[in-house]
Amino acid sequence: MALFVQKFGGTSVGTTERIEAVAEKVCGFRNAGHDVVVVVSAMSGETNRLIGLASEIMEEPDPREMDVLVSTGEQVTMSLLSMALQKRGCDARSYTGSQVRILTDNMHTKARIKQIDEQRMRADLNAGRVVVVAGFQGVDEDGNITTLGRGGSDTTAVALAATLKADECQIYTDVDGVYTTDPRVVDSARRLERITFEEMMEMASLGSKVLQIRAVEFAGKYNVPLRVLSSFEEGEGTLITFEENIAMEQPVVSGIAFNRDEAKVTISGVPDTPGSALRILKPVSEANIGVDMIVQNVGEDNRTAFTFTVHRNDFKRAKDVLQRVSDELGAHGVSGDTKIAKVSIVGVGMRSHAGVATKMFEALSVEGINIQMISTSEIKISVVIDEKYLELAVRALHSVFELDKPGVEETL
Ligand code: ADP
Ligand code: ASP
Ligand code: MG
Repeated sequence: MALFVQKFGGTSVGTTERIEAVAEKVCGFRNAGHDVVVVVSAMSGETNRLIGLASEIMEEPDPREMDVLVSTGEQVTMSLLSMALQKRGCDARSYTGSQVRILTDNMHTKARIKQIDEQRMRADLNAGRVVVVAGFQGVDEDGNITTLGRGGSDTTAVALAATLKADECQIYTDVDGVYTTDPRVVDSARRLERITFEEMMEMASLGSKVLQIRAVEFAGKYNVPLRVLSSFEEGEGTLITFEENIAMEQPVVSGIAFNRDEAKVTISGVPDTPGSALRILKPVSEANIGVDMIVQNVGEDNRTAFTFTVHRNDFKRAKDVLQRVSDELGAHGVSGDTKIAKVSIVGVGMRSHAGVATKMFEALSVEGINIQMISTSEIKISVVIDEKYLELAVRALHSVFELDKPGVEETL
């Protein structure tokens, strides 16, 4: 019999009826003789509601108190699910992250897991109980509650699965697997039977929020079999696995990711001297602002323009920092744009195929979509475009890379 770690996301536990349905499913596994550890998210909308309450009190609340606040969402769900399991004669106990002792560093609101104590969970499993754990939260060395960043219950689940050496970590959500692109945006998106860890990492980091990036990273590193499935329907879902386990020729492009979370800032007329990039980016990083894509144009008159993207939440601060830099460097000025989107094509097959970028740029050009910035890696190409063309671009790329057609695996 197997040991499964099963994570249920916000929508899957959004009402008490849905919590009862989750309990039915979990009981089914338990009655079939499997050991089950369940990780739950807060009921859908709850984390946002709590963040909203805090913002009614103050603009930038203390991160420690934010963690105390938002961790309550998962605590509600875990107890309700335990009750629903007990009601069905399925012995269960719920634990907060701190009770399990999911030890993290002390970086409130974006803590990293350092160690997990498996004793308590093992004792319950040995006693035939289902263990229900609050996702998204842990505790630091000093006993402060911490949280793992938005979408962090996925990471809790993978980390528990790694610690317990579970046979599979199953992420139950409101879609029945990982799709070629967000199925809520492109109707013809197709569910993938399998995707590599590497591709899933890129997809997650480039905007596909179906899995938290750290969860994928962790699963790849600790060799945790990871599957995304629907809470509402039966099915195989999508297995995230190593490239060698995908016994077929890889398509050139496996998926398309996108996000609207970024903004771009430009400092123009920068004197083109050694060290100018450093003088621009150092104050930005000192202000704790993460930079994504960077483009420097070779300018005339020994002056250049320097453009980069930051998270939209950091846009104003980034502009303020740059304005100071611009004054110091004697540059011409600073401008910015928040109405941009980043669209990326991802696929391990790109390694062995030439002309992928050309095909992408051609598809965008046919639609009259202007490319503002480009960045590439071995298995992805990203472009920044005007936000209003985002859906058009994703659809065009989905079609030109034939993602709406069934893969080899499905035609066999
Ligand atoms: P949960 O609350 O269960 O954690 P999320 O909202 O975090 O669920 O993740 C599921 C959502 O991810 C889906 O509803 C879907 O809109 C979105 N999504 C984005 N990209 C993809 C993709 N490539 N495949 C499947 N879902 C995707
Ligand atoms: N409840 C948290 C969030 O909404 C964590 C999670 O659902 O994974 O981000
Ligand atoms: Mg999620």
